Amino acid sequence: MLLKKASMDVVIIGSGAAGMMCAIEAGKRGRSVMLIDHACKLAEKIRISGGGRCNFTNRYTKAENFLSGNPNFCRSALARFTPQDFIALLEKHGIHYHEKKSGQLFCDDSSQQIIEMLQRECATAGVDWQMPSQLKQVEHLPADKETQHAERKFILTTERNTLETSSLVIATGGLSIPQIGASALGYQIANQFGIRVTPLRPALVGLTFAAEDFVGFKDIPGVAMDAEVSCRGSAFRESILFTHRGLSGPVILQISSYWQPGEIIHINLLPQQDVQQIFLAHRHSGMLLSNLLARYLPKRFVQAWCSAMLVQLAMTAKPMNQYREVELRQIADKLHGWKISPTGTVGYKKAEVTLGGVDTHELSSKTMESKRMPGLYFIGEVVDVTGHLGGFNFQWAWSSGYAAGQVV
Ligand SMILES: Cc1cc2nc3c(=O)[nH]c(=O)nc-3n(C[C@H](O)[C@H](O)[C@H](O)COP(=O)(O)OP(=O)(O)OC[C@H]3O[C@@H](n4cnc5c(N)ncnc54)[C@H](O)[C@@H]3O)c2cc1C
Repeated sequence: MLLKKASMDVVIIGSGAAGMMCAIEAGKRGRSVMLIDHACKLAEKIRISGGGRCNFTNRYTKAENFLSGNPNFCRSALARFTPQDFIALLEKHGIHYHEKKSGQLFCDDSSQQIIEMLQRECATAGVDWQMPSQLKQVEHLPADKETQHAERKFILTTERNTLETSSLVIATGGLSIPQIGASALGYQIANQFGIRVTPLRPALVGLTFAAEDFVGFKDIPGVAMDAEVSCRGSAFRESILFTHRGLSGPVILQISSYWQPGEIIHINLLPQQDVQQIFLAHRHSGMLLSNLLARYLPKRFVQAWCSAMLVQLAMTAKPMNQYREVELRQIADKLHGWKISPTGTVGYKKAEVTLGGVDTHELSSKTMESKRMPGLYFIGEVVDVTGHLGGFNFQWAWSSGYAAGQVV
């Protein structure tokens, strides 16, 4: 194949959520835009998100829903392209949606509708594509007023051609789900230009436990229940799910973004009840402890928990009226504050996002442009801005893509 040289106003690497949003906005401003992606299928993360229905935003998005080295960094972009702005785009395309809970919005039909909407918007904005295409090299030619190069330029070598641009946008996302195209390219480009990247780790991910801590529980995969889980001063209340390897479910995914190796997580198994009061009310009953607990918790879980916990407390399973008051207090404390020490996470293969990324202190919060390397922009998940579960990560992709799209 002949190598051609082309010049574009804007080149965006990564045609996921953030990349397409940026391309649409830049294209609408009359800029010539090229989107480059190495994947064969467009926007696979959008397709698989939200169980195939894409939790595309959260009505109540606030800066407090994000983790970042600079918690205020996301404010400006979120204020300029809000959940309501994305909803308006959906409504313009006649896409129906519904709220599941706590402001989480999903497509009624399928996440494919969002991909097609973004494709249509890109076409209207005159965006060009190079896909699938591998980026082989990025070079930077600084502005040199003494020669013909009055403007700084990035020279990109792809497997198809050479591209020149004055605005290079990195929208390559995080490391999660490498099987559908995630790569470390965005972090590598940051390193190439001396831009700091904060430590990376999988987040919104299931936690694993040592076999000895999990005796009995690995036999109850699929059991789910409401719980409050806390770690490092942050707490979430939602469903917890037992798996073969440990714990998952929304509340565990949320806390995984806060948990660090070596730390303990606290689980309140009955956040809505005062277990001490329940025990007092049944103090003289001949009912077995497990039968009483099974009124409030799944039976299979109660069996597993009683076998594991009563051994730890040097007690046996017996009727309520045979426990001493101090013993019941110890059991109640365990139910409200079950402490477990995860050994790790199930990793990037299953994680929804990557925590950490391009250091926000390196970027303008208004434009996403690198302070060190003018003309170079980072948007979406590759940046050290990580949302809670519930549509916040897509909102960050739309908002940061929009912010860069106004200036590239
Ligand atoms: C299973 C799952 C479910 C999720 N569900 C939700 C949800 O319902 N709601 C929500 O808010 N968030 C959800 N997320 C998170 C959300 O998908 C991401 O935060 C979001 O897609 C990030 O957008 P992005 O554009 O920054 O990156 P991405 O959407 O990941 O796009 C990055 C693009 O860059 C391309 N790329 C990567 N490396 C290269 C390279 N070397 N060369 C060229 N191109 C490259 C990729 O192919 C991809 O197209 C989910 C994530 C997963 C894994």
